[in-house]
Amino acid sequence: MGKSVFGGRQLGVATQHGKGEVIATVLVPALQLTRVFEIPTPTDVLGTFSGETERVLSPVEAAREKCRMAFEATGNSLIIASEGSFGPHPSNPYFTANTETLVLIDFDTTREYMVHHTSPKVHWNTQTFQSLQGFADFLKRADFPRHGLLLHTGSKRANEIFKECRDVQELEEKATFLLNQQGLFIAESDLRAFRNPTRMEVIGEAAQKLANLLQATCPNCTEPGFDVKRKIPGLNCAWCGMPSPLAKAYLKGCKACGFELEEAVPQKAADPQYCLFCNP
Ligand SMILES: [Zn+2]
Ligand SMILES: [Zn+2]
Repeated sequence: MGKSVFGGRQLGVATQHGKGEVIATVLVPALQLTRVFEIPTPTDVLGTFSGETERVLSPVEAAREKCRMAFEATGNSLIIASEGSFGPHPSNPYFTANTETLVLIDFDTTREYMVHHTSPKVHWNTQTFQSLQGFADFLKRADFPRHGLLLHTGSKRANEIFKECRDVQELEEKATFLLNQQGLFIAESDLRAFRNPTRMEVIGEAAQKLANLLQATCPNCTEPGFDVKRKIPGLNCAWCGMPSPLAKAYLKGCKACGFELEEAVPQKAADPQYCLFCNP
């Protein structure tokens, strides 16, 4: 492994939600950092999953904003932030996917490195209750207390949402309180990373993707982040030899010096099923 340009530096994680450990596990060895430390950043002002604060920034803008806040608070020049979103999976809209955006900014050089990672691994359950009947079964399905739960009544106003229940007894007390007040309650999986180990796992995968990106250095200037800019179609068909829409190469480029390199795919020919002439 070559020497990392980030070697010997410390990386601050702008977070309120305990993401430091999973990021440290991957990035400390990959980037030869001295350490990763959490910078408690009041990220809830940028919006929350549980909906008390509407999110107005895009995930990328929100992650950048968190980096900037953490840099201004500490002066540490290497900062990372993550932002998660949940929505239909790009390749199968019937499934929900978790996309994690990781933004790392080096405030010494003002360079930014970013990855998006989408995973079908999502732990999210919800159910509405008019009594405590069936609640115990739901708790098993929701994997409580390993995964956290929110209790609310649908309006999600800050005073009517319980986020911090740690055991079944506390959960039942709050549920009973809401039943007495409103006649119903909604239980819903907590998506905050430190209360949702499934999401934390996806953040770990995103960190690995970022490590791979940063370990890919430009052959011309050695800047990290030498990455695919676009695919070059035209892999020849195995039967007729005509160019197919499949990639014959990928164009990689460096954002720092502009150097570009075409990297051929390992396949010698395209499967005829993708050929526009053999298999229209
Ligand atoms: Zn370069
Ligand atoms: Zn063909």
